[in-house]
Amino acid sequence: MLTLHEVHAGYGGTRVLHDVTLHVPPGSIVALLGANGAGKTTVLRVAAGLVRPTSGALLVDGEDVTGWPPHTLVDQGVCHVPEGRGVFPSLTVRENLVVQCKRGDEEKTFEAAASVFPVLGRRMDQLAGTMSGGEQQMLALMRAYIQNPKTVLLDEVSMGLAPIIVDEIFDFLRTIAAGGASLLLVEQYVTKALELADFVYLLHKGRVAFAGEPGELDGEDLFARYLGHA
Ligand code: ATP
Repeated sequence: MLTLHEVHAGYGGTRVLHDVTLHVPPGSIVALLGANGAGKTTVLRVAAGLVRPTSGALLVDGEDVTGWPPHTLVDQGVCHVPEGRGVFPSLTVRENLVVQCKRGDEEKTFEAAASVFPVLGRRMDQLAGTMSGGEQQMLALMRAYIQNPKTVLLDEVSMGLAPIIVDEIFDFLRTIAAGGASLLLVEQYVTKALELADFVYLLHKGRVAFAGEPGELDGEDLFARYLGHA
């Protein structure tokens, strides 16, 4: 369980998050929605240990990990897939997987990657930077998955991808959650995110404007009020 508790955070003198409390329970998919600039990416950065709250706390399984450096949070099972993917463009697909997997697990990892995303299996020796955006995103997700994370922080994984690829990627996200990991998902693709999510937070100007199940959003004009503008 990952929790942000009454978090205030920002960059230098710029305050971005105000009193944000958010829970990501095990095995659940939590969507974080909001207009551009609402602070969604900053929430993920706090959760990954990249931005330290000015007040409030970050908890992993009840332990206060506020201020812990990012690599120690990785050891706690928190895995961050930043916007813009996070693959090594000048390494091949195979090499990208090798640098992330446990020694001795290489063959098993290649097989898993090829069975989840067959296109990766066919492109093992291709430089990651020369693949399409969707293929790079699949590789980034596989790199996250093979770390056997407890919580995956995903920033706009569907950005710029064709709908059919988005479907394939979202199916894989379901599989990850079904395996017991929890996902915190920042998405522009609101309808898809709501189909997938068990719980939704809507951020508006750095504050939680709505927290509830996707069904509770029906009939609300929260989208009109909060998603069009920061
Ligand atoms: P988007 O959908 O546009 O990525 P977002 O909801 O993810 O938006 P953030 O990226 O968290 O929002 O940004 C929230 C605010 O923090 C914005 O006003 C942004 O300009 C500011 N901000 C983000 N990163 C930095 C930074 N490194 N330094 C200073 N200000 C920043």
